[in-house]
Amino acid sequence: MTQALTLFPPSRAAALERLQDFSPKAGQDYGEGRNYYSSANDPGAVSALSPYLRSGVVSQTEVLNAVLAHHSAKAADRFITEVLWRSYWQGWLALRPSVWDAYQTDLKRLFNEVQTQSGLRQRWEAACLGQTGIAPFDDWASELATTGYLHNHTRMWFASIWVHTLGLPWQLGADFFLRHLLDGCPASNTLGWKWVAGIQTIGKPYMATAENITKFTDGTYPTVPGLAQTPADIPALPHPERQPLWETRRPDPSLRSALVLHEDDLNPLYAAASDISLKDNVCLIPTASQTPWQMAPHVVAFRKRALADAQSRLGNRIGEAGQSVNDADGLAIWARQSGVKQLVTADAPVGPTKTVLDAYDKLTDAPPLVRIRAPLNAAAWPLATAGFFKFRKHIPDLLAGLDPNV
Ligand SMILES: Cc1cc2nc3c(=O)[nH]c(=O)nc-3n(C[C@H](O)[C@H](O)[C@H](O)COP(=O)(O)OP(=O)(O)OC[C@H]3O[C@@H](n4cnc5c(N)ncnc54)[C@H](O)[C@@H]3O)c2cc1C
Repeated sequence: MTQALTLFPPSRAAALERLQDFSPKAGQDYGEGRNYYSSANDPGAVSALSPYLRSGVVSQTEVLNAVLAHHSAKAADRFITEVLWRSYWQGWLALRPSVWDAYQTDLKRLFNEVQTQSGLRQRWEAACLGQTGIAPFDDWASELATTGYLHNHTRMWFASIWVHTLGLPWQLGADFFLRHLLDGCPASNTLGWKWVAGIQTIGKPYMATAENITKFTDGTYPTVPGLAQTPADIPALPHPERQPLWETRRPDPSLRSALVLHEDDLNPLYAAASDISLKDNVCLIPTASQTPWQMAPHVVAFRKRALADAQSRLGNRIGEAGQSVNDADGLAIWARQSGVKQLVTADAPVGPTKTVLDAYDKLTDAPPLVRIRAPLNAAAWPLATAGFFKFRKHIPDLLAGLDPNV
């Protein structure tokens, strides 16, 4: 736990320092180097900003603005595109939230199967503990468990070996990642694993090859014997129909209001908008509810400390550090006891926080909850109607519409 939190101090000051160091390198250096293996100890060409972006300690808009202060959009095209992959995956899932529900249902079934089927349990444990005998895979399993981070190419190789070589269910791999990654994100992770398995871009699995691993680890693994040559046979269901995005609205400034601070957006200045009087706040921490197993201690500690950092930073705007709750009933009890007439929160993407907010909306006799969507999400999510290449055409418009102050 200590190593992960030393590598990624859970504070906005640390995030801004990293962004400042990285921004000048977001052009050619990033474009040429981003596929080469690196680690959290030495991120090389990549930013290692993902734990901070995941929790909104810094926003995508802030990151894009910082990079565009150093480079033209063309020069930083590769980096900008990657940052907007995150918006694309979030939007894709927001328009098809049942994909997350289906994954959660699968996980519960697999949890039982791991308890009752000793063969599956042994293979799953060996993979999680890095005891498969496939040297790079085993190294990466332990790197993830100690640092809470893996490079993008490493995630692709790891997931590919998990699914196609070891023949393990992709959902168990996605869960292993979500429990250990500091940046564990329901959208990027679930859809990233499905993509590797060949059931997101249907029929196009990602196959890790020994040559590719050797080249992009600069020869650390001169040979990687035993990798699958043919993809695992995983049935692909058609994608569900798109749903309309859930509603967001303006808070009523005449009501006594409290801010619900949560781990999906820890710099919600747009939600703490100036015409609303926010005298109280409550922290919502539902992270444990996304897995039947235990979250890694470093992930829980990172999010709790990042929340505490946000509370002390925003203190003069949102009042004293508030209580923590982890479900809808806890939120309603707090709201009733504190006498507020309205809860205001940054909208959360599909995942455990949104699940709690949705459950709260169904409660009777609790103050209304108003969600405010970050401007970039409001612009980008509705565009994730099909594949990324269609979405990508809108990137110039998304950049032109970036709020310079968020
Ligand atoms: C199987 C698999 C699982 C993944 N799980 C997650 C996850 O849980 N959370 C997560 O944030 N990313 C996930 N990714 C995407 C990507 O690997 C990470 O965002 C990236 O490695 C984070 O490191 P970085 O900040 O140094 O990235 P950089 O290369 O510096 O990119 C900057 C930012 O752009 C975004 N980004 C970059 N690449 C991608 C991508 N391929 N998809 C979506 N966003 C991207 C991230 O927010 C990242 O912080 C996953 C990818 C795969 C293949």
